[in-house]
Amino acid sequence: MTREVSIYDTTLRDGSQGHGVSFSTADKLRIAQRLDRFGVPHIEGRWPGSNPKDIQFFDEAKRRTFRRAKLVAFGSTRRKDGPVGHDDQVKLPVDAATPVVTFFGKTWMLHVREVLQTTPEENLSMIEETVRYLRAHGKAVIYDAEHAIDGYKDDPAYALATWEAAARGGADMVVLCDTNGGSLPQEVAAITKEACARLSCSVGIHTHDDIGLGVANALAALEAGATQVQGTFNGYGERTGNCNLTTLIPVLEFKLNVRSVPADSLPMLTEVSQFLDEIANVHPNPRLPWVGAAAFSHKGGTHVNAVQKLVRSYEHIDPSLVGNTRHVLISELAGRSNIIMKARELGLPITKDTPELSAILTRVKALEHEGYEFEAADASLALLIHHTMSDAPSPFSVDAYHVSMRAEAGASVCEATVKVRAGTVHAHTVAEGDGPVNALDGALRAALIRFDPDLERQRLTDYKVRIVNSSAGTAARTRVLIETSDDTSSWTTIGVHENIIEASLQALVESFEYALLRKGVPVSPFAAAVRS
Ligand SMILES: [Zn+2]
Repeated sequence: MTREVSIYDTTLRDGSQGHGVSFSTADKLRIAQRLDRFGVPHIEGRWPGSNPKDIQFFDEAKRRTFRRAKLVAFGSTRRKDGPVGHDDQVKLPVDAATPVVTFFGKTWMLHVREVLQTTPEENLSMIEETVRYLRAHGKAVIYDAEHAIDGYKDDPAYALATWEAAARGGADMVVLCDTNGGSLPQEVAAITKEACARLSCSVGIHTHDDIGLGVANALAALEAGATQVQGTFNGYGERTGNCNLTTLIPVLEFKLNVRSVPADSLPMLTEVSQFLDEIANVHPNPRLPWVGAAAFSHKGGTHVNAVQKLVRSYEHIDPSLVGNTRHVLISELAGRSNIIMKARELGLPITKDTPELSAILTRVKALEHEGYEFEAADASLALLIHHTMSDAPSPFSVDAYHVSMRAEAGASVCEATVKVRAGTVHAHTVAEGDGPVNALDGALRAALIRFDPDLERQRLTDYKVRIVNSSAGTAARTRVLIETSDDTSSWTTIGVHENIIEASLQALVESFEYALLRKGVPVSPFAAAVRS
C-alpha cells in the first residue's frame, strides 16, 4: 500500500521572506486557492499580528471556499512572565478563525537565555500554556520547535523537555525545525527518531536549504518517522530558501512510492511552479529539478541522438508526468538530430532525409560563431529554418530607420521613425518611447498593425543585452534577446551587432515576423500586399 505524508505549505509566510519575493493580499488569495486545487492539505498564512495586510488576508479567506486545504494561522508562544489570555501573539491567530493554528517556541537553551532572556522553566510554561489556550479555543495545534536540531545537539534533555511540554499541553504535532539550515541528514534522522519514540503526538519536519540539503533532510526525517513536511513551492524562503516542495513532492511520488498530493495533481506541478514565479515576479530558475526549463533539456549531439532512439537513455523519468517537456538545445554542439528534434518541437516538417538539413546546420554554426545563440531564441531559429527551406520572401522589410534622443529638465525622450515596406505597400511611422528600443518597437508596431491589426496584441515582455566577443580579434558585439508575448504564448528572438540599436532592431523585426509565420503568412494580409 502507498504510504502517505502530509504536505504543509509555508510559501505565504516563510516563502514570502525570500529574496525578491513579495505578495499582495490578492496574490496570496490566488496562491492559496491554486495550492488548494493542487491538493495541498495545509496552507499557512502569515502571522495575523504582523501587519494589516495579513489580517486582511484571513478576513478575505473566510469568504472563499477551499476544497481540501485547511488554512493555518501562525503565531508564537505567549510572552514571558505574562498571562496567555492577554497576549496578542496568541490571541490574534485565534481571531483569524482558521481550524488550525501553528505557533513557534524555543528549543535551544542559547535562545532561551540569550534571546528571550528568561529561565528554562518559564520557557517550558510558555510553550505548554500556549498550547492549552489554543486547544481550549477549539484549534488543532501544530507546535513549530524552532532550532530543534541545533537545540537538541546542544542539550538533548532540555530540547526533549520543550517538545514534551507541547505534547503535554495537547499539541497535535511537534514539528522539528532546522531553522538555520546547517544540519546533515544523519543528524536529522537520529533526532527525529528520538522525538518519535518519546512524544505522544505526531512529529513533523521543517527544513531550510542553507547547505543544499533542505529536501534531503526532510526525506531523512520522513524515513525516521515524521509524518508531515513543511516547505515552500519553488523553494522560496530566506537566504537560500526552504525545503523545496516542487522537488520533494515528485521524489516522494515517483522515487519512494509515498503519496503526498492526489496522483492526478502531479502533471500540474510545472504549471503551479510557473504560476508562483509569475505572481512572485521572480525569474524562473531553469535549473530547478523536475520543473525547471532545463530539467529535461538535451544539448550534446550524442545525447540527443540517443534520446531520439530511446528517451530512457538520458532521462530519469518521462517529463510529462510532472507537466514538463523535453527540450533540445541548439548550440555549437548542434548535430543533425538536434535540428530535427527542434524543428519538430516547432512544428516544422524535417526528417534526416530533408535536403536542406546540412545547409541549416552550417548556417546555425556560422551564426553562433558570430555571437548568436539559439538555445533561448526559438523563434529566430524557426525563422532561420523556414527561410532556408522556403523561397517565400520576408513578409516585410525595414528600408530605413532613425532614432534620436533629447533630454529636457532631467527627463529624456527617444523618438524613432521607420520606413517599412510590405510588397508594394509602404508605411512611414514615428513613435516616442522612454528608451530607444521602446521607441523603435512603437514605430515598427504602428507601421505593421496597418497591415495586420492582430499584431497589436503582442508586447515586449523581456529585453536582455549581453556583450559578446564572437571570436578572437574582432570587436565586441552586442547580443540582444527579446521575449515577446501575446494572449496565449511567448517567443524569443535574437539580434547581434556591434551597434546595440541595430541588434535590437533585428530582434524586434524577427519577433513580428515570427508572429506572422505562426499565423501562416500565406493567409495574412501581408501576403496580399506582397502579391499586389
Ligand atoms: Zn523556516
